[in-house]
Amino acid sequence: MARSEWCCNGLSHAFAQRADRGIYVFASRLGPSSPVSFWLAMRSVTQADLRRRENLGPSSTVPVTLATRVPIRFCPWCGKRLDRFYGPNGNQLIDTSLDAEFYLPESPAPGTD
Ligand SMILES: [Zn+2]
Repeated sequence: MARSEWCCNGLSHAFAQRADRGIYVFASRLGPSSPVSFWLAMRSVTQADLRRRENLGPSSTVPVTLATRVPIRFCPWCGKRLDRFYGPNGNQLIDTSLDAEFYLPESPAPGTD
């Protein structure tokens, strides 16, 4: 997306960080006729390292959250309403590898593609 198409640098930067550790944003479409939804997410390890989670250390009975996400309506940095600002351009924030990571409803189950 061109720089002028982003609501702000904060969201652009957060989307660019989507494969790294930390906080990021992405969009998803929950069904073929569903509107684009926007998500704020966090991952403790890189997306690539999630596949190696069995190598993260000794097994423990303490629950650990490696990754989580929540739906958002407004940009956390500039406050713009995301569905109105991005409209059809919201498709450009969809990364199907993230749908698979979070098992979003219309995503194929891992290993079935
Ligand atoms: Zn923004």
